[in-house]
Amino acid sequence: MNSCNCRNLEKTLAIKSSRDSFVANFKKLETSNENWAEMFKCNVCEQRWVVQVGAEMDREYNYAFKTEVPTLSAFDFKKANFDLEVHKHGGFSNDTCMILGCEQKALKGIAFCPNHKL
Ligand SMILES: [Zn+2]
Ligand SMILES: [Zn+2]
Repeated sequence: MNSCNCRNLEKTLAIKSSRDSFVANFKKLETSNENWAEMFKCNVCEQRWVVQVGAEMDREYNYAFKTEVPTLSAFDFKKANFDLEVHKHGGFSNDTCMILGCEQKALKGIAFCPNHKL
């Protein structure tokens, strides 16, 4: 195996096929039980990925995030989750979040921003 698809994949990606096949050519570097995620490095291009674990239990896709940081403790899960909500909703609407004092745009189709979405 001397080619990979990392470069062509989105930065925030829903793993719609099996998680096992997604990580098949990756080397696992670290696990975070607290954040339900694992860090991998592609065996070919060395791209690092943070890959969610266990989302399928909520009948959701596991998501993968491209990252440049070396360890999970350096990975900004808060920002990743923010980006993930934006990704899932297909962007922001023109309205501001309903929470008083919040100036963030609401996500498309709902009245709240990623930080205030339940
Ligand atoms: Zn790669
Ligand atoms: Zn808000």
